[in-house]
Amino acid sequence: MSDSGKTPPLGGLLHLRGNALDKGAPVALPITTSSMYHLPGLPDGSDFYGRAGNPTWAHLEHMLAHLEGAPCLAFPSGMAAIAAALFATVTSGARLLVPSDGYYVTRRLSQRFLANLGVTVEERPTASYTEGGFEGFDVVFLETPSNPGLDMVDLAAVAKAVRAAGGITIADNTTLTPLGQRPLDLGVDIVVASDTKAMGGHSDLLMGHAASRNEDLMQAMEDWRIMSGSIPGPHAAWLLHRGLETLEVRYARMCESAGLLAERLADHPAVKMIRYPGLTQDPAHQLAKQQCASFGFLISLTLASEEKAETFINSCPLIRPATSFGGVHTSAERRARWGDEVSPAFVRLSVGVEPVDELWEAISASLHA
Ligand SMILES: *Cc1c(COP(=O)(O)O)cnc(C)c1O
Repeated sequence: MSDSGKTPPLGGLLHLRGNALDKGAPVALPITTSSMYHLPGLPDGSDFYGRAGNPTWAHLEHMLAHLEGAPCLAFPSGMAAIAAALFATVTSGARLLVPSDGYYVTRRLSQRFLANLGVTVEERPTASYTEGGFEGFDVVFLETPSNPGLDMVDLAAVAKAVRAAGGITIADNTTLTPLGQRPLDLGVDIVVASDTKAMGGHSDLLMGHAASRNEDLMQAMEDWRIMSGSIPGPHAAWLLHRGLETLEVRYARMCESAGLLAERLADHPAVKMIRYPGLTQDPAHQLAKQQCASFGFLISLTLASEEKAETFINSCPLIRPATSFGGVHTSAERRARWGDEVSPAFVRLSVGVEPVDELWEAISASLHA
């Protein structure tokens, strides 16, 4: 169902650097680890200090900007990007809305630090964002599909309603990546993401990014990055750049396998509940079809009991029991172990790139274990 209007052009992504090279320059991206730059005379916009700029991040940001269709800033983690977006937008006395069922550290950051600065933090389940009621909110943070419940909201409708009420929207797009959904195209003001997940894809780095078409918001987030020192290391930036070169093939395989596995899991007697936006019976399916270019690689499952869930996760040779998601290796965990408001038998399954028939065989054997 891929719709070219919902996805960035991908052929050019792999040649962004190559097409701008001088003869004799390395085709692979060099890692620049310098804190100092050669700077005789007056500063004139060149790189001048490692906290303010770095050619390895600059090229990574060029690729990320291509994916988002907007200027982009790289951060050392998803939370660093989220913090930049929040600190760039909220002020003392502001009202901030965050999802009660989204990534939990966003809520914790808001309650632990922003509330102390005079920000009123309110929470609402993702599914109820659809009901509107954004009057009086200065910043509305949303996450769709939400992690881990996979509820969705209509980004265009929320962005429009929040803007009409005078607020700013920030969307966490980690779960689908820009290949699955482009919130800025739907009117959202800032998109943030953890590139630790599918964007990096190999479970060997932490990174994040923020993008916006609003120059003032970009300037504020860049100032935050320089002044707070929340900067990516050149090595992690380089690894993420390398991961992005294979994002399209990894993501396509992961989503296709997830779609197939979801169909089979939905019919499996050991599965009591399943959420996957690609299933026609899923409450988010109609919205997902209209809003997204793909249905993602995350599946939420509820099994019969906590014990069954633990056995499933820990006995399957093709599942890594681990927190986090989006890697080439299939992984899973019980989110209740971190206090998410889900059943103790709830499992978040992140589908990797293993051959899908082998994966299904291993998964169904573990469900019977
Ligand atoms: C993992 C995650 C984050 C945080 O990202 P880090 O890279 O771990 O800082 C934020 N939002 C969502 C939806 C995530 O899954």
